Amino acid sequence: MKLSILPLFRRQTAITLALSVTGLALFSKIPAAAAESDGKAETIARVLKWKDGKKACVMLGFDDSAPSQLTNVVPELDRRKIVGNFYLVTGNGVWTNTKAKWEAAAKSPYVSVANHTFTHKGVENAEQLEPELAKCNEVLYALHPERQQPYLLGWGRPGGVPWKVTKEEQEAALAKHHLVDRPPFAGPPINYHSAAETVGAVDRALAKGDMVQLVMHGVGGDWLVTPVDWFTALLDKLEATREEVWVADVVSWHQYVTERQSAEIKVLRADKDSIRLELTCKVDPALYDLPLTISTKVPVDWKNCVVTQGANKTTVAVRDGAVIYSAIPGRGEIAIQPATSAGQK
Ligand SMILES: [Zn+2]
Repeated sequence: MKLSILPLFRRQTAITLALSVTGLALFSKIPAAAAESDGKAETIARVLKWKDGKKACVMLGFDDSAPSQLTNVVPELDRRKIVGNFYLVTGNGVWTNTKAKWEAAAKSPYVSVANHTFTHKGVENAEQLEPELAKCNEVLYALHPERQQPYLLGWGRPGGVPWKVTKEEQEAALAKHHLVDRPPFAGPPINYHSAAETVGAVDRALAKGDMVQLVMHGVGGDWLVTPVDWFTALLDKLEATREEVWVADVVSWHQYVTERQSAEIKVLRADKDSIRLELTCKVDPALYDLPLTISTKVPVDWKNCVVTQGANKTTVAVRDGAVIYSAIPGRGEIAIQPATSAGQK
């Protein structure tokens, strides 16, 4: 019965090697993360490096709750449907004066709020770090009473102030408060000195197929100012490369990479009627529930597929012998069937 698949697949050169050895190869555990880059023939299902199969990831960060972000950044991100990460300081005078506006801004799906400590005054020891994280989180949680806790929030260490905690103390405190430390970044006007250099960050992400994070402070005002025309050029670039670049919030980036790195795909069944997979990963499903993007090779005569996981059912066109779809680790078997046999057009 396992052999029945072979004639179907053999016409597809990319996986001939794997399947002609033994049908059992179909049932072996596939280390999805390792398979992502090596393109080995035995891989019929793999997690793509970036969400939706995009070529690169870009993250935009905006620090310090600078008021110019409310006037010059939030409306533009909304208009263009591009997400930004706002590293808010929620215990100083700037915040008090603009709190109501941030409460309104946080309702936008393109405003991802993150923790930049309560006072931005730095810490002399681990005891001081605790309330800096907790009190900022409290304000961020209040911006989204609809969200079920615990959930992950982004975190950016404040710069230019004393920071006297060890790496271990910081990691423990971040884990306790479900905070995701943002990765290294650069940004205008400190690292990038023109609109062209700022836009170039997106090209570098694409050239490497990697993640690049740009962090800004004031935009068109306030401090460490990014000129509005540089910012506009950056957003124009992100709109022009929308098909290739995943513009992410920091939590989704972290979830995607973390889930992908520990993901395993087991092929439970693969024959002429259906492919059934199990996707798992080794992290807490309560905090890591972002769908991963999976590519799965299918028999050559399948033109459209119905992909089902739990209550989610989508019809996907076959491209280059494979289907690409989203699935959440640990949420039950993934079934892929040719659309015709499932009664679809
Ligand atoms: Zn800061």
